Amino acid sequence: MTQSPDKLARRVVRQLTPYQSARRIGGSGDVWLNANEYPDAVPFDLTQQNLNRYPSCQPNQVIQFYANYAGVSSQQVLVCRGADEAIELLIRTFCEPSEDSILYCPPTYGMYAISAESFEVKRTMVPLTAEWQLDMPKLAEQLPRCKLLFLCSPNNPTGNQIAPEDIEILLQQTRHQTLVVVDEAYIEFCPEASLVPLLAKYTHLVILRTLSKAFALAGLRCGFALGNPEVIQLLLKVIAPYPLASPVADIASQALLPANINLMRHRVVRLNQSRDNLAAALAKLNNVVAVYPSKTNWLLVAFKQAQYVFHLLGEHGIIVRNQALSLGLVNCLRITIGTEAESARLLEVLQSIPENRS
Ligand SMILES: *Cc1c(COP(=O)(O)O)cnc(C)c1O
Repeated sequence: MTQSPDKLARRVVRQLTPYQSARRIGGSGDVWLNANEYPDAVPFDLTQQNLNRYPSCQPNQVIQFYANYAGVSSQQVLVCRGADEAIELLIRTFCEPSEDSILYCPPTYGMYAISAESFEVKRTMVPLTAEWQLDMPKLAEQLPRCKLLFLCSPNNPTGNQIAPEDIEILLQQTRHQTLVVVDEAYIEFCPEASLVPLLAKYTHLVILRTLSKAFALAGLRCGFALGNPEVIQLLLKVIAPYPLASPVADIASQALLPANINLMRHRVVRLNQSRDNLAAALAKLNNVVAVYPSKTNWLLVAFKQAQYVFHLLGEHGIIVRNQALSLGLVNCLRITIGTEAESARLLEVLQSIPENRS
């Protein structure tokens, strides 16, 4: 008798529902507005050809350039395979399986919970308030029981900034007891909101960053954790020996040159303008209930008939992110800002919905 591999797998893995990434969900269409990617590819050439050698674990130039860009010292930077790997490293470094708990505030990014679950780390939720801000009394109650607090600001999928005063109060409440992780995957779209200045004051603050969004390099798989040097050293104990392929380090170094950072900032200005134009146009549509303010490269939109709109867009080859399963967002779609032409196509389909459709 042969044993099925499914029976050999850990119980938690057999029961795990993997993250429903935009790529995994798939869909057929030619307008991809579901993964918060930059709509155009920024070209790079490889400059290193020594693929016979293993890469450096923490390539100096990438670390140094990112430290300069973020305004921290190189000892405060860890580079890894996307911010997703940083989430996983934090959980593996700080949480005892079956014993410790992470705390997070839905609706928010799904990987905090999934990474914790796959390592059998407990999960505690304190939902955001109706204004999508932190529920401070409930957090104060739960924090002493949790090792890691994951906050996302600006928050995916709601698009708003979490009040920095609240985060600082939590930092004061959690000294020596809980690590506060702030995911700044979208911070380039509102750089003034970064909590990096607080790193000097709080050694238990960790900030997550990525090249996947404003830097237009989602396919590169390159992200960062910024934190106290002691925290970075601990994460380096559990990271794989060669987390970054040489071509990744090569391209990341180029993307972080001052001229390319400048180009990124210009892209952000254009994208933010496009977002505000699209928000104004969407707000006029009959089927739209609300276009929520966004500090990011997407719009969260509530529709009278979100499921109908989702499928109608799909039929026209436009793929957006359905939020039906996100806490409190049952009638919402998350729409990434694409090119001007893509926004025009989206509006054209939405404007074709008859006013009296019920
Ligand atoms: C996209 C995203 C990530 C993942 O970033 P990668 O660097 O591509 O792994 C992390 N957090 C949030 C909130 C995101 O939206």
